[in-house]
Amino acid sequence: MSLGEQWRSARPKVAGLHLDSAACSRQSFAVIDATTQHARHEAEVGGYVAVDAAAPVLDAGRAAVAALTGLAADHVVFTTGANHALDLLLSSWPGERTLACLPGEYGPNLAIMAANGFAVRALPVDGDGRLDVDAAARQLVADPPAVVHLTALASHRGLAQPLAGLADVCRTLGVPLVVDAAQALGHLDCAVRPAAVYGSSRKWLAGPRGVGVLAVHPDLVQRLRPRLPPPEWNLPLAVTQLLEHGEANVAARVGFSVAVGEHLAAGPEQVRARLAEVGRCTREVLSDVTGWRVVEALDEPTAITTLAPTEGADPQKVRAWLIAHRAVVTTYAEVQRAPFEMTTPVLRVSPHVDATSDELAQFAEALAAATADV
Ligand SMILES: *Cc1c(COP(=O)(O)O)cnc(C)c1O
Repeated sequence: MSLGEQWRSARPKVAGLHLDSAACSRQSFAVIDATTQHARHEAEVGGYVAVDAAAPVLDAGRAAVAALTGLAADHVVFTTGANHALDLLLSSWPGERTLACLPGEYGPNLAIMAANGFAVRALPVDGDGRLDVDAAARQLVADPPAVVHLTALASHRGLAQPLAGLADVCRTLGVPLVVDAAQALGHLDCAVRPAAVYGSSRKWLAGPRGVGVLAVHPDLVQRLRPRLPPPEWNLPLAVTQLLEHGEANVAARVGFSVAVGEHLAAGPEQVRARLAEVGRCTREVLSDVTGWRVVEALDEPTAITTLAPTEGADPQKVRAWLIAHRAVVTTYAEVQRAPFEMTTPVLRVSPHVDATSDELAQFAEALAAATADV
């Protein structure tokens, strides 16, 4: 069986076409069962007792995230999502609050940076929005910010950013690099051991919704000052315990841990290669649909393809039409998703490793029908 066939046979049958893994992938039977079993165990022995039985699987989940990021398992904390992880990190930030990020930064991240009092400046990019590593190095030498933040793969454009190159530059200059890997974990190589990296469960790793993760480098973790409980109380708790403080959906964390384990078992390198291939096939089949322009280059090594309307089609209406008439799930991405880069809303197509060329051709036909009809 191919990787795609294995991935598909491990999941419930899809109703229609699911081309939306950048929003929320499909969970496997094993993930759904592990989540359910934990909830059942909570009902049997009590939620605060059941959590002890979940410790080994949660530890395995942390170790799997550590393997994917190059960081240590005991500095991996579960969160409710990527945004929550960034907020936890920035609200705990020690010292000066200046940050450099891409002009195409994710809108909700910009909101979290602003809410935590960070003054944001733009890193240099080329005409496609890809980081210019050499120009960035010069800029960071001339005027280093307290933090460099890189969204390694954006939500609104399937561009693989030069993460490894920027990580080298930041390491040489001693500037902490924080990586938004919400789209990159399970999709691109993120094992660059940055100051911190965070992501979501439900996207390419295909875990449950409502879970995220934050992994922090040991040099940074000791310097963080989590906001709650107040640092001046000097409670005898580790920084990671403070960061994980609060109520949690343990069953969902168990499911996420199983999902990351499945990803490692499938082979991250094989998954990455297959996702790059799926992206290429998607762009190829969509390159001549009237009324749309494929934004990414054919060979961009990601499975995120975005379509910008060229003749006035409304991506929001097209998305709704595709669900209503063909049970095809895609994403409508509005300009606020990357307010300093996007000039028009786009339709995003994000198939996982199991997509077939027949299905992609079906989608191209459905898109043409939707465009003519809305
Ligand atoms: C989805 C996404 C987020 C936010 O993730 P949540 O888990 O919904 O908080 C952040 N950054 C990028 C690039 C995303 O695609």
